[in-house]
Amino acid sequence: MPIRHSIKRTLSKVAWRAYNTYRKGLDYNTQFSRTVEILNAPRETIEAFQTERLQRLLQHAYQTTPYYSEFLNGTHLDISRIPPLEKQSIREQPDRLYSTAYTQKQRIRNATGGSTGTPLTFYQDRGYWNQRNLSVYYFDQWAGWDFGEPQLIIWGALADLDKDGHWKHRFNNFWRNQYWLNGFRLTDTAMWAAFEKMNHCQSQTILAYPSSLYQFAKFICENKLTPLCKLKGIITSAEMLHPHYRILTESVFKTKVYNRYGSREVGLIAMECAEGRMHINCRDLYLEIESPDPYTEPGEILITQLNNYAMPFIRYRIGDIGLLSDEICPCGNALPVLAELLGRTTATFRTGSGTLIQGGYFTQQFYGIDGVTQFQIIQESLKHCILKVVINEKWTEATRRYLVQRIQDALGATVAVTVVLVDEIPLPPSGKREYTISKVDTDVDDLRKP
Ligand SMILES: [Zn+2]
Repeated sequence: MPIRHSIKRTLSKVAWRAYNTYRKGLDYNTQFSRTVEILNAPRETIEAFQTERLQRLLQHAYQTTPYYSEFLNGTHLDISRIPPLEKQSIREQPDRLYSTAYTQKQRIRNATGGSTGTPLTFYQDRGYWNQRNLSVYYFDQWAGWDFGEPQLIIWGALADLDKDGHWKHRFNNFWRNQYWLNGFRLTDTAMWAAFEKMNHCQSQTILAYPSSLYQFAKFICENKLTPLCKLKGIITSAEMLHPHYRILTESVFKTKVYNRYGSREVGLIAMECAEGRMHINCRDLYLEIESPDPYTEPGEILITQLNNYAMPFIRYRIGDIGLLSDEICPCGNALPVLAELLGRTTATFRTGSGTLIQGGYFTQQFYGIDGVTQFQIIQESLKHCILKVVINEKWTEATRRYLVQRIQDALGATVAVTVVLVDEIPLPPSGKREYTISKVDTDVDDLRKP
């Protein structure tokens, strides 16, 4: 390994340590060891820890949150008395979900645009973020990730769409020893550059959107290239990992794909282990399946986030469908297993010039847009796109113009965007919610010809 790569790794490891100490305090090492200890513990220890955290959260919610105190009674804190928390309720009465024990300054704003199809703004506290990061570090290590080791990230980077990229984004990449392939704009040139960089820096892991990773693997395969780095693993997140994505990627990169299930609202929910089972992150959350028998009949997933005290999410209906498994995983980890997960699908769009754009680009445009209750974007052809929206009273003509502009920024200024106001966007018979649909076949290569 060239000496400058070793120096870069060492510096990145030092920078990670400094960053974690700054964000989480001097006892960061103790916090991380404690996280590892809980997540590696026997089932009884994990369950006892989870029960204790759940009771503490319910107590807090009962005492300081108007929304929940209505359903709970102080002597018997029973979670089943709380109805599932709908996105609609969060949108309609956010003030009643804030804990009175937290000031406005202590609440950190976050929002989801689209992987859930329903734009939503919510708040988390510093404690939530610390715990969330600790869990991500722990679970990513299952896939071979480690602090400061070189990583290729194939993700949607809005900053990269700006002329020179945001300096903060670049600085972060440098000290974290990570480099990006922008999933929002997958051109052949960008994929070539990422492939060469991956070999040059001897990447240890890749973190990617499944659909963008699949396009990158296809590019490598079609150009008969061979990755020269020895990857330890690939982490995918944020959308459905289809079986054909996994098969192609694992054969091209000669390593395993580890699927991660999480969301902006509640953090990391589950992670796939070396044996291919999705283990539930019981340290940070309490997961229920709304079904008469969650081990045989799939149902809607309800999540209680155990660490966000500023705006507690209890029995939050996340919009995915799951099934539990009662098997003991051969990997040796005792965290319970999610047997099936039916989540979101995201399409890849293609522009007239052949650039591939990950559907996440479009859904991100809805972050913080208050006038839209639900949406679906359909690429009908290279020249026409339909945006279906369920609107609310905050919708304005300016919102419409903004969204059309953002779609045209990605697909081309000459692409016609028809905005259709609808009463609802029904779920397709498959049960898989689709917020981005492309009817342009991304596999047809001669589309690029004039
Ligand atoms: Zn396992």
